[in-house]
Amino acid sequence: MASRMLQFVTVPQQMPDKRPAVQRRADFKEIYTDFAPSEARQQASRCSQCGVPFCQAHCPLHNNIPDWLKLTAEGRMEEAYEVCSATNSFPEICGRICPQDRLCEGNCVIEKGFESVTIGAVERFITDTAFQRDWVRPQRPEAELGLSVGIVGAGPAGMAAAGQLRRLGYAVHVYDRYDRVGGQMVYGIPSFKLDKDIVARRHALLTEAGVVFHLNTDVGRDVSLEALRARHAAVLLATGVYRSRELGGPGAGLPGIVQALAYLTAANRRALGDTLAKEAERLDAAGRDVVVIGGGDTAMDCLRTAIRQGARSVRCLYRRDRANMPGSLREVHNAEEEGVEFLWLSSPEAFLGEEAVSGVRAVRMRLGLPDSSGRQSVHAVEGSHFTVPATLVITALGFDPEDLPQNLAAPDLAVTRRGTLKVEYRSMMTALPGVFAAGDVVRGAALVVWAIRDGREAAAQMDAWIKVNVRAAATPSVAGTAVTAAERQ
Ligand code: FAD
Ligand code: SF4
Ligand code: SF4
Repeated sequence: MASRMLQFVTVPQQMPDKRPAVQRRADFKEIYTDFAPSEARQQASRCSQCGVPFCQAHCPLHNNIPDWLKLTAEGRMEEAYEVCSATNSFPEICGRICPQDRLCEGNCVIEKGFESVTIGAVERFITDTAFQRDWVRPQRPEAELGLSVGIVGAGPAGMAAAGQLRRLGYAVHVYDRYDRVGGQMVYGIPSFKLDKDIVARRHALLTEAGVVFHLNTDVGRDVSLEALRARHAAVLLATGVYRSRELGGPGAGLPGIVQALAYLTAANRRALGDTLAKEAERLDAAGRDVVVIGGGDTAMDCLRTAIRQGARSVRCLYRRDRANMPGSLREVHNAEEEGVEFLWLSSPEAFLGEEAVSGVRAVRMRLGLPDSSGRQSVHAVEGSHFTVPATLVITALGFDPEDLPQNLAAPDLAVTRRGTLKVEYRSMMTALPGVFAAGDVVRGAALVVWAIRDGREAAAQMDAWIKVNVRAAATPSVAGTAVTAAERQ
């Protein structure tokens, strides 16, 4: 079927419809509805099929975007899915939660003047269609290699690596301290951005492919890293970043001041129907005046969660302005539609209250010249103090990794000053032979799409290392069984 591309001149950009804000405020369901097939085809046909596609260059997975857009425009959906899934382990997830305005779509050449192609929404449509039509199958290997690998962390990096290694024929064992697979995709990111069933569906496919998940297993406490190294031909650390950056200042220890991840995890568990511990029960915004401090995507998630929980007021304090915030502008817009008030160029100075927090004293800021990091410096405006009522303050200032050398009893595991794991640039191997690392624990807090890329790349590097260091040296006895340290040397 011939396609007519380059339709951006006549066909305006259209995202899938958003549910009305008043409806969104009352539930935790995803906010976008699905594209109708004709809408997806029409939107895909806006692509000008660039010879040098900047969209692809700025996608961390270098997805072959022009090709799957053309196939979608032609209605060749099964082929579109094949192209789309060749480079991305979870395209339906990236289509939903990538900050496209900073990645593929933000670099689409027709952005200037005509608004970009809605790449993310089409990617989501392709993969949702593939699931509906049962084209998505578990990726089982053609033959078993008789070797096993261990993966610590069942977030997107660990899941992507698990899928790739299983396809190659390894027996794959994934260990996670949580009770569900998905890492931050389940307990951090709210379900109005990513429905939890979508992650559970990938968990089920990996299990069907033969990946074994050991949940409720904290590596370092329930099983040692050394034991995993002895059990498996190679080990991947994909443990993410979970240490919240603290906010100081007078009153910072008052009850009612909580960290973003604790708040979001409680909200996600509540939505999943879990019983919460007493402490987590209190992390509910219903009827409270909420102030969220920070300007990243985590802050946006807290603000929009508080709205849905029925907060009395929801405000965001951010010390820079809208143009200089790290979060996605699309998310800011969604938050504003839902009733969040943004106090730009405002920084907290002190928390007020006796028994519990009752307000935040803040000061207005102005932007100065760029500092050594290249970002504009911020300066307090003298005499500009003001107070915001707050009975729940949520701090969302970013995350760092936990102390992994200590937690994993592995003092030789080299880390950077920020605590992220040091890996050899190309091989992704840590300072410990046969131990690799991927995702946020290496990059620092990043994105799901980067975790997927790292997980896939680490899987390829682990396979290459095992080929040289294990497979060449040892003949395994029983398919899928563990390899001992002695066999590995
Ligand atoms: P994680 O997803 O953190 O998974 C790590 C896993 O390791 C966890 O399951 C954890 O339980 C497990 N683990 C840790 N230590 C151990 C141990 N000792 N033993 C066993 N298991 C262990 N990204 C986007 O692209 N779009 C978004 O909209 C977005 N929104 C976000 C919102 C929030 C609130 C947060 C917190 C993050 C958001 N991100 C978003 C970032 C994204 O979720 C992460 O970059 C991504 O999940 C990192 O993947 P990962 O596999 O490296 O780590
Ligand atoms: Fe865009 Fe993310 Fe899809 Fe890449 S993976 S094409 S950045 S939505
Ligand atoms: Fe199509 Fe835009 Fe990518 Fe060019 S940059 S190939 S127009 S999506």
